[in-house]
Formats: sequence, C-alpha cells, structure tokens
Amino acid sequence: MSWGGQATDLLDWPIFGGSAPHASWHNHRPGVDAMVTAPLDTRSFRKTVGHFVTGVTVVVFEDGEGVTRAMTANSFTSLSLEPPLVLFCVGKESRTGQAIHEATRFSINILAEHQRDLSQFFAGAWRSAELPAFNFVDWAGRPRLEGCAAALACDLYAIHEGGDHWIVVGRVIGVETCQSETRPLVFFRGGYGMLAPGGAVAGV
Ligand SMILES: Cc1cc2nc3c(=O)[nH]c(=O)nc-3n(C[C@H](O)[C@H](O)[C@H](O)COP(=O)(O)OP(=O)(O)OC[C@H]3O[C@@H](n4cnc5c(N)ncnc54)[C@H](O)[C@@H]3O)c2cc1C
Repeated sequence: MSWGGQATDLLDWPIFGGSAPHASWHNHRPGVDAMVTAPLDTRSFRKTVGHFVTGVTVVVFEDGEGVTRAMTANSFTSLSLEPPLVLFCVGKESRTGQAIHEATRFSINILAEHQRDLSQFFAGAWRSAELPAFNFVDWAGRPRLEGCAAALACDLYAIHEGGDHWIVVGRVIGVETCQSETRPLVFFRGGYGMLAPGGAVAGV
C-alpha cells in the first residue's frame, strides 16, 4: 500500500460510489445506511480501510550510523500485554522501511491534536518553507519527540513480512503520558480530525 504525500486525497472521494461499475446495493432498509459493493482495487481498498479511525504516531529511532530518523505512522497498535508488545507497519520501499533493520530500539510518539503539522512533516508532506517546531530528546538511549500526548519506549522485538510492508514489533520498556488533558490527533478517511468534548470526531 502506498501512503503517498497527500494526506487529504481520500476526502475527495464520494462515500458511496453508486455509479461504480458492478455496484450492488443491499441492506437498504429505512433508517439503515445502504452499503455498496465496489470492485476491489487499490483505490477502493484504501477508501474502505480509511473508514477505520486511528490516532497518529511518529516513530523515531537511530539508524546504524546513529542518525535520528522519524516517520509518521497510523498503523500502530498494541499487540500483547505479557510481554508488553506493540507494532507498526512500514512500507518496505520507504527510507524507514530500509533503515528499521539497523535499529535496536525506537520510540512511538502519539501525537496531540495540535501536532497535525508534525504529522505532515514526518510524512514528507510538508510544503511550506517555514519548518514546524519540534525537538528530539534522549529517552533511555532512544530519541523521543518532545511534547506529544503519550510515548512508548521500545526495544526492537521482531520484524515480520507483511506484503509490501514490514510489521515491526517492539517490546515496551517504558511509557510516558502527558499530565494535562491533551487530546489525540485523529486520522479518518485521509484527513485529520479531533475529538469533540462529547467524544465525537470533528474535522480540522
Ligand atoms: C497520517 C499518516 C499515517 C501514515 N501511516 C503510515 C504507516 O503506518 N506506515 C507507513 O509505512 N507509512 C505511513 N504513512 C506515510 C509515511 O509517513 C511517509 O510515506 C513517509 O514519508 C515515509 O517515508 P520515509 O521513511 O522514507 O521517511 P523520510 O522521507 O525519510 O522522512 C519523512 C519526513 O521526515 C523528515 N525527517 C525524518 N527524520 C528526521 C529528522 N531526524 N530530523 C528532521 N526531519 C526528519 C524528512 O525530512 C521527511 O520530510 C503515513 C502518512 C500519514 C500522513
């Protein structure tokens, strides 16, 4: 799956592609949203999985030469409680996908709602001449992005193959959460959102 540089391209897509070839409708009862079946291709696959609401993280690590590298990732999920494991997926062709094999540890930084700029920047989608402000700090021998909603310090546990991505598993050795009521940045259908006070997602 290619993430591309445009984080908003999915927003342009109609939710229901009624004119799509071979579209068929079912479950069309009053009060129930109709579902449409579309031909399975990269576009419809991305559009469909984009309905799954996620947070946004920045993965930070040092490569084999000690250079700090960072990448925006929303494929993060927790995996195991005992031992405490988390994972993220990274495209094999990306710089992170190649360099992650040299890493022994990394941090997962969960972005707060005011850090959309950092998400864009570490996705390589920053278009302004003025760079967003950020700072890496040392956290038990691994770089961490300052000022996030929460962070996990990980040791590299395993790397598995997953199609055109690597599935990177980390063993969590430390956690930090922001003391204030910082709310997370939200990613949904290719665009950013934030949690409304009632808990709903609102576009930003
Ligand atoms: C919301 C969202 C979620 C995403 N989720 C995923 C995902 O789960 N998996 C996935 O594979 N892709 C994901 N992507 C896409 C991914 O972030 C981009 O493809 C990214 O550019 C990966 O490329 P790279 O590893 O080659 O990073 P690079 O192109 O090497 O780095 C990305 C950007 O960060 C900057 N940067 C990196 N390190 C530093 C540093 N130390 N100091 C200053 N700047 C630095 C680079 O200059 C570049 O602009 C996501 C994108 C978005 C917007």
